[in-house]
Amino acid sequence: MKKPAALSKADRELIAAASAAIKARYRDDWQEVGAALRTRSGKIFTGVNLDAYLGRMAVCAEAVALGRAVVEIGDEGIDTIVAVRQPPPREKDQSIAVVSPCGACRELIFDYDPKARVIVPNGKKAAAAQIADLLPNKYRRGSET
Ligand SMILES: [Zn+2]
Repeated sequence: MKKPAALSKADRELIAAASAAIKARYRDDWQEVGAALRTRSGKIFTGVNLDAYLGRMAVCAEAVALGRAVVEIGDEGIDTIVAVRQPPPREKDQSIAVVSPCGACRELIFDYDPKARVIVPNGKKAAAAQIADLLPNKYRRGSET
């Protein structure tokens, strides 16, 4: 895996957009993660996770952001995507921070843009990685390549 790259001003704007989304919609145990993506056409879309009483129905913030993009402008690819977690009030020593996409979201991001950049935690900071580097040996049906 390549070393993650330093963040650009545009990357920091994306983190700010994801943070604003979850700060606006945070609900303990229901919405704790915000996401933001920049399409290849340069538009930003945000989402928050949808937790559910029936756990397997939960939807990640990245998927909600992507869904909003596809509904509003169609599939224009993903230049960069990021998710951040707003800690619950009981975690007083924690602050909002970039989180890695889960395995399912890595598959989803790759499907919509195999060249997408993903902002990931890198020690106490964040850095940008390529989705292909985060998802080696992606799922394929049978002999598809
Ligand atoms: Zn996910």
